[in-house]
Amino acid sequence: MNEYFSDLFSGAKSLLVGLSVTIREMFKPVVTVQYPREKLEITPNFRGHTELVKDPETGTHKCISCMMCQKECPSDCIRVKGEKREGVKGLALVSYSLDFTKCSLCGTCVEVCPTAALEYSQEYELAGYSSDEFRFDLLKRLEER
Ligand code: SF4
Ligand code: SF4
Repeated sequence: MNEYFSDLFSGAKSLLVGLSVTIREMFKPVVTVQYPREKLEITPNFRGHTELVKDPETGTHKCISCMMCQKECPSDCIRVKGEKREGVKGLALVSYSLDFTKCSLCGTCVEVCPTAALEYSQEYELAGYSSDEFRFDLLKRLEER
């Protein structure tokens, strides 16, 4: 009989302890959001895949097709194509492809660029059905921005 009451007491105590934790948590500030309906602001230091920086003065990129990023990328995921154009000093950028499937986000391309033409995007929701969806034409992306 004693054992019966002891079990009953310990069950009721455990129930009250659990309920007190639940009630305490109910009145604490909410620190989570209902993703994807709600989204938090990403820290400026977040490193998404690289993008071409849009020059606010010209409205276009700052790339001079020097190929430094392509040469220094340890993962061989950048292809830059430039061509000689009338009135353009150096090579005019024709295409800039980034194979993000191989990128380790090491940041070398951003660091070596002599004109600060590259930056990290704030893109954190990348998802796709094939690896081709992670091969980006950065020049096209810049034009669409
Ligand atoms: S972040 Fe590193 S791995 Fe990615 S493209 Fe730049 S140099 Fe290559
Ligand atoms: S290093 Fe900079 S300027 Fe040179 S090709 Fe790459 S993005 Fe363009």
